[in-house]
Amino acid sequence: MKLDRDQAGTAIESQLCSNCWGELTEQFVEANVREVHCITEGCPCTGFVSRRYVERRMQEQINEMYEARHALADLIKEITSAGKPDPSHKDYLKMLGFSE
Ligand SMILES: [Zn+2]
Repeated sequence: MKLDRDQAGTAIESQLCSNCWGELTEQFVEANVREVHCITEGCPCTGFVSRRYVERRMQEQINEMYEARHALADLIKEITSAGKPDPSHKDYLKMLGFSE
C-alpha cells in the first residue's frame, strides 16, 4: 500500500498485516511516497490492523486453547474412569467430533 512518508511511519509503529499479523516495513518509492507491506514472504498483505486488535485476538485464542485443554482432559478422565477398555486413537477422534 502506498502511503506518504509520515503515514508510513505511523502505520509501521501502530499496525500489523491483516493477513498474517506480521510486522510492516516500508520501501522508498519517491521523495514523499513509501510502499508499506508486511515482512512475510509470499503474503498478499491486503490491509493492516491495529496492534491492539491482534493482541486482543491472540489472547482470545489462548483462552480458547485453555478451555479446549480442560474439556479434553475432563473427557479423557470420564472415559478412562468408567471401567471401559482404553479407547483407541480413532475412538478419541470420533468422540471429539471428527469423522473418518
Ligand atoms: Zn502479511
